[in-house]
Amino acid sequence: MDKYTGKSFFGGIAVGRIQMFKKGRQEIKQIKSNDPEREIARFNEAREKAVEELENLYKKALKEVGKTNAAIFKIHQMMLNDINYTKSVEDFITNQGVTAEFAVAATRDNFHYMFSEMDNEYMQARSVDIRDVSERVIRILCNAKGSTMDSKIPSIIVADDLAPSETVQIDKDLILAFVTVHGSCNSHTAILARTMNIPAVIGADIPIDGSINGRMAIVDGYNGVIYIDPDSELVQKMQLKQEKELRKRSLLLKLKGKENVTLDGKKLMLYANIGNADDLASVIENDANGVGLFRSEFIYFEKNRFPTEEEQFQIYKTTAESLSGKKAVIRTLDIGADKQAGYFNLDREENPAMGLRAIRICLTNHEIFKTQLRALYRASAFGQIAIMYPFITSVEEVLEIKRISSEVKKELDEQKIFYRRDVEEGIMIETPAAALISDKLAKEVDFFSIGTNDLSQYAMAIDRQNSKADRFFNPHHLAVLRMIKMVVDNAHKNGIRAGICGELGSDLELTETFLKIGVDELSVSPSMILPLRDKIRKTDTSKIILEFDL
Ligand code: PEP
Ligand code: MG
Repeated sequence: MDKYTGKSFFGGIAVGRIQMFKKGRQEIKQIKSNDPEREIARFNEAREKAVEELENLYKKALKEVGKTNAAIFKIHQMMLNDINYTKSVEDFITNQGVTAEFAVAATRDNFHYMFSEMDNEYMQARSVDIRDVSERVIRILCNAKGSTMDSKIPSIIVADDLAPSETVQIDKDLILAFVTVHGSCNSHTAILARTMNIPAVIGADIPIDGSINGRMAIVDGYNGVIYIDPDSELVQKMQLKQEKELRKRSLLLKLKGKENVTLDGKKLMLYANIGNADDLASVIENDANGVGLFRSEFIYFEKNRFPTEEEQFQIYKTTAESLSGKKAVIRTLDIGADKQAGYFNLDREENPAMGLRAIRICLTNHEIFKTQLRALYRASAFGQIAIMYPFITSVEEVLEIKRISSEVKKELDEQKIFYRRDVEEGIMIETPAAALISDKLAKEVDFFSIGTNDLSQYAMAIDRQNSKADRFFNPHHLAVLRMIKMVVDNAHKNGIRAGICGELGSDLELTETFLKIGVDELSVSPSMILPLRDKIRKTDTSKIILEFDL
């Protein structure tokens, strides 16, 4: 038996045969051409065909993994229509007298290099996307077949790396697990695997020379381990573990409709984090108490221009109505740092995580901010909308937000547009500055939501995008836990609620601590609602002995 390890990206156990994924890379046979016009026409024809294929993939992904995740294929279409990209290909054709396929390959290599050299890990991950779209065009130009899978039986897919389009193209019923040698947790392939509920291990030290093709294997997605030719004892053990997990899930489904209440009667609200109105189905399916964090920036990512007030209004209205009276906390635009949309034309920054991002952009460009606020207030007439402002560091910022929002409300009044006067407005506590002055901030807002993802990165000075510093990252760092306690205490002293909407909220090892601290609400990915409800219902807070020196 051989054992290999990688990074666990999505839990679950898979037992089956290995199927190597063959990349359909094209060898370019003809390099030179003396008919540039014809080559440019061939390129544009192939590009249009590729855009059409990507639209079909988008539709397939939409059904399988939802709008937010399918959006990558819209981005791929935009890449192919990007003027810098098309111009580069055309320049190669005209200036160097080469064929369309050679010009696309040269552009692919240049752009791939440029993206992979960027400081930002998110942008680095885009280098895979540029390769993916370019290879699609080359394949069309060469009349060749795409990447393939020989087997028609469900298998463990092993690849050097998988492009998002390859991940979605494989028939879901034929995938038991994904194992890749390359790829980051941030890559869209990894995110797609998680959304498709498929065990995934990335960065595995597994050979891809074909020697393991067809061999029996076990993928332990919980621990990031792959066993090849496992003995029957291990297969049995893993199959039992797998059955146990499935039983656990069906038991959890029985908790739908029940309260999140501890054995000694303490209640906590469990909300869901979403990025799009399409995710509302899973909020309802997992019986969340509402939406605790709607990352509204995703609405901006799906477009190649600013979404209009009307477009935003429709999305917020649908959200409010779909939740039938349950609360939807919508966070205003949190763009910048790792989340970029080209049309914002933000300057390149040395330290984007500490630069012009989130509320700082809104307070710099009132037009963008006011458009979103108008849409939000208008939607408040259709359900229980609450507004949350990200990345706050001072009381002055909150006062400035209030001034702008009262201007917006005044305009709506003048135009006789109805909105609810009692819309709750809260802030994210995701900077150490906000945590340390939470006593002052609590006097200005209706609620706090602690963004532990950013709070942790700023508290420990570890870039959340940089896996190289993983070893120094302690998700249970006392500094973060102490700040959470301080924020909750300050909220309660001032009669407001405090919740957690960062990833730490779904850490079951900390649920007891959060209950003991008195956290009022947790907002987590929809699939974590029922496991948390289960944990809460089995806890007696009077018996909790805290292991942390808070
Ligand atoms: C956070 O920082 O914890 C948070 C919830 O916001 P985001 O992850 O979108 O930055
Ligand atoms: Mg944040």
